[in-house]
Amino acid sequence: MKLRYSFCFLTLFVAALAAQTPKSPPPTQPDDRLKADVLLVVAHPDDETGVSAYLAQLLDQHKRVAAVYLTHGEAGHNNMGPERATSLGAVRETELRHAMAKLGVENVWFLSGLDTPSQDVLQSLGRWHHGAALEEVVRMVRLTRPEVIITWLPAIFIGENHGDHQASGVLATEAFDIAGDPSIFPAQLAGSVHTNETLLEGLRPWQPKKIYYFSDAQEQDPFKGSGPSLSGNEISPARKIPYGLVAMQCFAFHLTQYRSYIETFNRLDEQQQFAKAKADGWLDPTQLIFGKSNVGGGPKDDVFAGITAVPIGFVPHQSEVAKAEPGVSEGLAGPWGFYETFWRAHGLQHLPKAAVPEIAIATGATLQVPLVLHNNTSSAKQITLSLTVPEGWSDEVGTGSYTVPAGDEVPVLMTVTAPKAESKAVDEITCHAESDGQSVGVIKLHVKRRSGGLPQN
Ligand SMILES: [Zn+2]
Repeated sequence: MKLRYSFCFLTLFVAALAAQTPKSPPPTQPDDRLKADVLLVVAHPDDETGVSAYLAQLLDQHKRVAAVYLTHGEAGHNNMGPERATSLGAVRETELRHAMAKLGVENVWFLSGLDTPSQDVLQSLGRWHHGAALEEVVRMVRLTRPEVIITWLPAIFIGENHGDHQASGVLATEAFDIAGDPSIFPAQLAGSVHTNETLLEGLRPWQPKKIYYFSDAQEQDPFKGSGPSLSGNEISPARKIPYGLVAMQCFAFHLTQYRSYIETFNRLDEQQQFAKAKADGWLDPTQLIFGKSNVGGGPKDDVFAGITAVPIGFVPHQSEVAKAEPGVSEGLAGPWGFYETFWRAHGLQHLPKAAVPEIAIATGATLQVPLVLHNNTSSAKQITLSLTVPEGWSDEVGTGSYTVPAGDEVPVLMTVTAPKAESKAVDEITCHAESDGQSVGVIKLHVKRRSGGLPQN
């Protein structure tokens, strides 16, 4: 009771002192504690692992690194306790904050997206209310004023291929392109008009200078040469261990997800840990994929080449609209179709992509092949769809004839069920479209059958 009385007295004393101080004008410059050289935009706690060796290098170079997580990873499993769902998200946020403290990153934010386990970027964007999530990411870019954004590759490759990863890459790309535009989300930019303003935010437009991507694709070969490759083997002068081992030490906080691997690793002595880190690829280089630069330079240049402390103004992004295919045609729709539009709309046609569109599904699962049939002629057309599938695939749905009105398009969802056996080979599914007795389209899809993994949708 006595302590409480003293505390109240102190509070009153400080308030009285403050009242006597002449009123100073409110600060007009952005809060420098939040300024980042690099902003990492990812989906789940532990996603930083793909680039944490490189982030450790940047921190050694006294670069300021901040991170934004779109979700709390609450749909993951929990190998440490019974906590699931929202509670697991709270646990994973704590694991991440410990990991980032070990790495040396203090400014970390979680946004309001929900962990959505599928490979379909559109489902993640839908669940996150795309526009609202974009407003949140733009706010973080304007608040942290990064020179460089690093994020997941917005593309489909066989690998973990999480829709949330892809969606964080989509949002980071959109934010890169619009955060500098003062006409976008203007309430974020307007100065406060009331004391304790709750509507207008007082931020400034901010144009980041470069954006890079990274990928968890099973095959990393398609990305070689598409951006800088950073050594994981180099010794950190500050920590006296290779950067790849720093990454492993930070990863070791994600026990809910990787308990047995981490505990096995922690039981090893230093020399054994180094050997295991090497064998498991922790010391491999970090491959960044060049996205865009507003300050020139080549894709493989150093990330900070051409970057100075001087801010740049808004750079309207290059955008291209696809020309409509003449006549009658078929196209892949769903996330594949979206990416064709997205890359054009954001000047990213150069990004590496699978030579043939690809996906991995669980053995025995039903593959979804979203198509769109176009008719850019002046009369209605019949289009007949058929599938060629390898032996063992069954239950084809969606083949047959479709009427497409003149100047219109018709969406078709074809499905076919995979054999129950796992396969090392990749299966090729071919969708043929015919009209007036002539082929008007052949679409191929490469499908890897695996024992588990995320559902396609
Ligand atoms: Zn993830």
